[in-house]
Amino acid sequence: ASKRAGKGRCTWFNPAFDKSREAVRVMDEELRDALAKSEFALHYQPLVDAQSKEVVAVEALIRWNRSDGKSVGPNIFIPVAEETGLINAIGIWVVRKACEDALKWDGIKLSINISAAQLRNPEFPVQLGHILEDIGFPASRLELEVTETCLVLDPVVAERTLEVIRGFGVNVALDDFGTGYASIGFLRQFRFEKLKLDRSLVTRAESDAGSRAMMLSSITVARAMNMGITAEGVETQEQADMVRAAGCDQIQGWLYFKAMPAEEITRLLNKSGDDLLLSAEKRA
Ligand code: C2E
Ligand code: MG
Ligand code: MG
Ligand code: MG
Repeated sequence: ASKRAGKGRCTWFNPAFDKSREAVRVMDEELRDALAKSEFALHYQPLVDAQSKEVVAVEALIRWNRSDGKSVGPNIFIPVAEETGLINAIGIWVVRKACEDALKWDGIKLSINISAAQLRNPEFPVQLGHILEDIGFPASRLELEVTETCLVLDPVVAERTLEVIRGFGVNVALDDFGTGYASIGFLRQFRFEKLKLDRSLVTRAESDAGSRAMMLSSITVARAMNMGITAEGVETQEQADMVRAAGCDQIQGWLYFKAMPAEEITRLLNKSGDDLLLSAEKRA
């Protein structure tokens, strides 16, 4: 009771703040528990070649299947895990699990999302190197997705970490481009192997000339810097046609595939070329 009373002082001043702090604390405990009890799972969303529509990569996306039967999406719990630092342990679990799963998906790339706290953690590249070696996963098949916020918070450390990671032969993609303050100049400041255009930019580009111009000019800059370009969140045939015409090399979105469990990816990749195209087009 005295502990609550101590916190109460703050409640009078800023109830919303105290409440959210409490919510973070509770969820942090639940997440630690979830990690210990293996309640996390990875789903994988295929990325298809914009021209051939073949699956060329998969992106690992974490899910939390709670013991009460509810499934919680990463947008809810990743920010909490970032705030408390638990993302470091979760992130390492993701890397190991994803590389283990993807080991049998010969010939396609694996993309993994990395958050700001991980990029600031000097242990991260060391751990990553160990996992790749331990599992025998080829670094050249791995791509890490980072966002602008990962890099602006502490650009010097982030850049150093990325250099170590690149030294392994791992590619780096800039995720969610078009959401934050993402400026075209930012593309020049860091080296990325790939640019991922956010779903919101793709959507806006359809109806708004300014957004379309921004999409096209970022594609031009990315091209000039030898970056690959992926359009995210493509849901309609019109959007697919637009981003293909704009020069995107890869398309990711529900038009083609949603994220699915590892076994379904294995089944998908075992289909012959024609069957695979068919399953992509059926969704189109
Ligand atoms: P993201 O990396 O930009 O991933 C793409 C998100 O868009 C995924 O949501 C995916 O399911 C969703 N998406 C894909 N295609 C479509 C589409 O056509 N329409 C719509 N409406 N949505 C689509 P998800 O799985 O909920 O993940 C949300 C975010 O959580 C990710 O955004 C990423 O930032 C973060 N995240 C996911 N897994 C991890 C992880 O293992 N570690 C870290 N640090 N972050 C993760
Ligand atoms: Mg991503
Ligand atoms: Mg994204
Ligand atoms: Mg996102």
